Amino acid sequence: MHEYSLAHSLLQGLLEHLEREPVSGRVRKVHVRQGELLILSQQALKEAWHILTERTPLAGSELEIERVEVRVRCRSCGYRGPVPRVEGEGWHFQAPVLSCPRCGGRVEIEEGRELAIIALTVEEAPAGEVDPCDS
Ligand SMILES: [Zn+2]
Repeated sequence: MHEYSLAHSLLQGLLEHLEREPVSGRVRKVHVRQGELLILSQQALKEAWHILTERTPLAGSELEIERVEVRVRCRSCGYRGPVPRVEGEGWHFQAPVLSCPRCGGRVEIEEGRELAIIALTVEEAPAGEVDPCDS
């Protein structure tokens, strides 16, 4: 299951990060950026996260997924930025055009395929105080 392994690698990365830089409170939300070229079910990803975080310090946290557009870099003219989009007949989505909008040259994708954690929402808990409930 694609989403499951994505959630797994997100979690591994985050746990390692928290080991190096612990936070002083409970993580409530994990803000994730999803490139638009990465096809996944957000629902499945959230469910996988829920299952995988059980019995970890991140239990009870939720994923907040933000989709970001493709950004490219042109090998010929150096253009960097977004690309135009096309909507085909009968499509239910717009697809990015993966060539340079300035010169038509070949582009490298700089953003758009990644799944990355960009921020955490942490609930500050004063030392010694116990969280009375989970809701
Ligand atoms: Zn170009």
